Amino acid sequence: MKDCIFCKIIAHENPCRMLYQDDLVSAFQDIHPVAPTHLLIIPNKHIPSVNHLQPEDEELVGHLFTIARQLAKQEGIDQSGYRLIVNTGSNAGQAVFHLHLHLIGGQHMRFPMG
Ligand code: AMP
Ligand code: ZN
Repeated sequence: MKDCIFCKIIAHENPCRMLYQDDLVSAFQDIHPVAPTHLLIIPNKHIPSVNHLQPEDEELVGHLFTIARQLAKQEGIDQSGYRLIVNTGSNAGQAVFHLHLHLIGGQHMRFPMG
């Protein structure tokens, strides 16, 4: 989708530290990390938010989690723990309207945040 920063990242039209890509999803480092590990896992298909998910996206959403788990292990934070966050809409502070899963870890985190 034109003018979507994450679509540009997927198409390699915008620089990023890409860590994983397959036919369905891409994962890269967040540009403003809030913890030692802060990755974003996104569908390659432009879906603006959870509010826009369709029943046929269920497999894709499952895949986002499977890759998050794989990356947590790769980053060495699977045993120490990590947080997966999906912000949806303005109250949640969603800034980029291309669905993304934040994978955050590498330090102790309090809950709830913010
Ligand atoms: P959210 O508030 O859930 O929409 O989070 C958007 C996230 O995208 C923020 O953590 C930003 O730091 C991150 N972000 C925005 N632009 C880029 C970019 N070009 N490369 C990597 N991460 C980005
Ligand atoms: Zn997009």
